[in-house]
Amino acid sequence: MKKRTRVVKIGNIKIGGKNPIAIQGMVKTAIKNKTLALKEITSLFETGSDIVRFAVKDSEDVQAVKYIRKRINSPLVADIHFDYRLALMCIKNGIDKIRLNPGNIQQEFQIRQVALLAKKSNVPIRIGVNSGSLAKSSLIKNKASLMVKSALGYIRILEKNNFKDIVVSLKAEDVNTTIEAYRKFSRKCNYPLHLGVTATGSLVSAIVKSSIGIGVLLSEGIGDTFRVSMTGASTDEIEVAKKILSSLSLRNFGPEVISCPTCGRCSVNLGIVVEKLEKILSKKKERFLRPGMKIAVMGCEVNGPGEASSADLGVAFGNNGAILFRDGVIVKRIKKEDVLTILTKELEKYYET
Ligand code: SF4
Repeated sequence: MKKRTRVVKIGNIKIGGKNPIAIQGMVKTAIKNKTLALKEITSLFETGSDIVRFAVKDSEDVQAVKYIRKRINSPLVADIHFDYRLALMCIKNGIDKIRLNPGNIQQEFQIRQVALLAKKSNVPIRIGVNSGSLAKSSLIKNKASLMVKSALGYIRILEKNNFKDIVVSLKAEDVNTTIEAYRKFSRKCNYPLHLGVTATGSLVSAIVKSSIGIGVLLSEGIGDTFRVSMTGASTDEIEVAKKILSSLSLRNFGPEVISCPTCGRCSVNLGIVVEKLEKILSKKKERFLRPGMKIAVMGCEVNGPGEASSADLGVAFGNNGAILFRDGVIVKRIKKEDVLTILTKELEKYYET
């Protein structure tokens, strides 16, 4: 059961409350490279990001916000460190949300100025606590508690200025600390939470750390938005985020392919078949009528149909061809080279014409 949090509007979407858990993407290009940044933002939204954040480091980036805003209607977030005046300028240039780091924007009069303008402009503020930005003395122990304390201190200043459109994140590079911090905060407050594990490393390490950290919290009903962090392509972060949500049945992103890990019984290159099938599906997913559908691709006839009994449609390869099955039941025998064509034809029945 998802924890009921306060609803916050970010541009044209809402997070918190009963709203779907939103995926946030992060632009890796410096946005002063306007054309490249715009291309990356567009591809993040096309891949499935609901919200896109970028770093704003100086006045050139602030000017780029204006340029990007004119061309993108979807929710945009400016990530601000050190200089609160950049936040003020981004709000004036039409940004949908501001992220402030309590580790480096601490003066109360600065926070107050951002809160006042943000309130006037209906722009929410994320208090983005990051374990790496905590004071040195706090790095020794009780890191999670100190992260929560830092967020609560910031909340008090914002609330004192009658500002409540708050989102909070408590990211650490360590999975256990991250989980502990979010759990602790969630017991104290009902502001919506943006989840994430930070500095997770490259592909495999990032997928494992994010899936465990974010997945554990989401399965406990904690979290309203999240970002998968990865030293790699920004669109890969979105693909992983979608898989986390669909694996927990929290959102659907089209049909799911189930494939076996293969073993000595497998007589085809199953990886290539699965890759081709996923490509076919990704081109058509908007037209798909049954988003929760499962398609099984199994390496042998011995265990294939049985192992894929929960699938709606599938094939199991054998030495002399493959068998097609529906609802875990064998339908007919087909040639190996016809598998993708026949699966595509079968799938057409589940698409809008
Ligand atoms: S389905 Fe067949 S080929 Fe695939 S892992 Fe199981 S036994 Fe091996």
